[in-house]
Amino acid sequence: MTKVLLCFYVCAQNTFKKMSNENKTISQFELNLICEYFSNLERQGPGSPEATLKALSFIDNLTSESRIADIGCGTGGQTMELAQNTLGHITGLDLFPDFIDLFNRNAYTLGLSHRVKGVVGSMEDALPFERESLDLIWSEGAIYNIGFEQGLRRWREYLKQGGYIAVTEASWFTEQRPQEIHDFWMEAEPGIDTIPAKVAQIGHCGYVPVATFILPENCWTEHYYAPQVGVREMLLEKYAGNQAVIDFISFGRQEEELYHKYKAFYGYVFYIGKKI
Ligand code: SAH
Repeated sequence: MTKVLLCFYVCAQNTFKKMSNENKTISQFELNLICEYFSNLERQGPGSPEATLKALSFIDNLTSESRIADIGCGTGGQTMELAQNTLGHITGLDLFPDFIDLFNRNAYTLGLSHRVKGVVGSMEDALPFERESLDLIWSEGAIYNIGFEQGLRRWREYLKQGGYIAVTEASWFTEQRPQEIHDFWMEAEPGIDTIPAKVAQIGHCGYVPVATFILPENCWTEHYYAPQVGVREMLLEKYAGNQAVIDFISFGRQEEELYHKYKAFYGYVFYIGKKI
């Protein structure tokens, strides 16, 4: 369990991969725990409504006819923000059925069900869209599951020419960094790289890099870590004495401490590209 949860906004797929590398299997309880934990949060990764809107401000091709996909949408925090600020149809795709249930409930509550729909699926597979049918592909904190470059390459075929891609990805801010945080990320997500390296990858994958900006610190502190405090307390009480729960929560706290210690060296970056 230790390694698996190093990357706290871990997904089932990554978890399974890491566990199988170690010849361990993740229990259904652990998987349910991850799901329950993140279901209680509006966002399953660092981000904020302001950051989502800022990224959206670089996209200029949207109309009421537009088709948008949000890949690895989770429970849809950012999708609902997108929906309230665009007119087109949005499909959210996520691996976890529980997240998609919450997503569709959120869309219904907000009166968006007629144009916002969540579907269960894996980004590892062919996506449920026609070739060259999408105007925009969105993905916050999720493309790492198949790798930044691989995601950009594979998703390109679903975009119309001139369509946009907007993704967030963990990135290094500096060329050099302390060993402790370097080792942490190599274990959790070795695809992390510097911002110039990621921008070059966007170009190599057939997009014009349109905009790049670092997510402000409050995307981590206020919008990601702060809401977890209450969820941790709730789960520790609900599963009092359960070692798996105690370990899970203590790794989450360690990840948060590392962020505070090393936030000058890494963070999330929004990358926006246009298909050429
Ligand atoms: N975009 C959301 C969730 C980010 S967390 C937000 O920013 O809040 C990463 C999400 O990717 C999780 O919801 C996880 O279930 C999903 N995910 C992981 N592997 C996936 C896969 N193979 N296919 C689709 N979704 C996946």
